[in-house]
Amino acid sequence: MLKWLDIIKFATNGNPIPDRRLEKTEEEWKTLLTDEQFRITRLKGTERAFSSDLCSYFEPGRYACICCGTELFDADTKFESGTGWPSFTQPIKENAVAYHKEGSFGMVRIEALCNTCDAHLGHVFQDGPMPSGLRYCMNAVSLKKMDVRERKIDFGGGCFWCTEAIFQRLKGVLKVENGFSGGKIANPTYREVCSGGTGHAEVVEVTYNPDEISFEDLLRVHLSTHNPTTLNQHGADQGSQYRSIIFYRNENEKQAATKIIDEVQKSYPDKVVTQLEMFEHFYKADDYHQDYYNNNPDEGYCRAIIDPKLEKFMEQCKDKLKQE
Ligand SMILES: [Zn+2]
Repeated sequence: MLKWLDIIKFATNGNPIPDRRLEKTEEEWKTLLTDEQFRITRLKGTERAFSSDLCSYFEPGRYACICCGTELFDADTKFESGTGWPSFTQPIKENAVAYHKEGSFGMVRIEALCNTCDAHLGHVFQDGPMPSGLRYCMNAVSLKKMDVRERKIDFGGGCFWCTEAIFQRLKGVLKVENGFSGGKIANPTYREVCSGGTGHAEVVEVTYNPDEISFEDLLRVHLSTHNPTTLNQHGADQGSQYRSIIFYRNENEKQAATKIIDEVQKSYPDKVVTQLEMFEHFYKADDYHQDYYNNNPDEGYCRAIIDPKLEKFMEQCKDKLKQE
């Protein structure tokens, strides 16, 4: 997650390398853009505050550069800033946006540009909501709303091989990846995580279609298919890497998750100890750990531990399963 110091560093020492570059002449841009789009993106203009409906639009999806189509922001990071310009706390990728110091005599501002085509987007300020503390104050004219019906959630509850096998079978789930989140170091290995010293949890990252399964239903399945009342332990697996944890991406998800935990608590005699944490990074585990149950159905662990769990889950959630 980028913070203010990273932004200053980029603006001072140079911007991250973009995935691709697109350069055109002013004349070429003029033919591709409306007058207003050209004025704002190519001549660094600013639209009137409250001139766009995008400010109060919070549906899921992504926002791309109006000039080159590069995806810049996810709706997950959009927030109501009250400024009259669409505001985000974080770009979709660290190299999506470029930064440029502007002004002088103590009145320095940081301009935000598309890192692919140099379109002027707006400015970045350090008065946004935590944890990034950033406010990307954007011109709505510079952005194009993309309708991507795809969301992600990361959670852990014991061994990720088990969690993966369950969520792969749920209707509305597009992809499940195994990895680590919530720790202190970047790109941890499986061995480092298993030593318990990195602070990471074994998690799955589930990509789902919110039209087919809700965030709430995903959490209900998660909290009913592992024991969320045992701290740092699931069956034979012991250690903080096996803790029960849910990573939320915005305030709405945090509130929804709190509600579901309260709801699920009623079906457990002991206290639910599932942690709620703001999502920061997901580190994918080696290929060996991906699609584990499907690739190793006869392996001892799969037979002894995953088979019975899966059977129970498929019996309980018949109506939520994918049609094979
Ligand atoms: Zn662009």
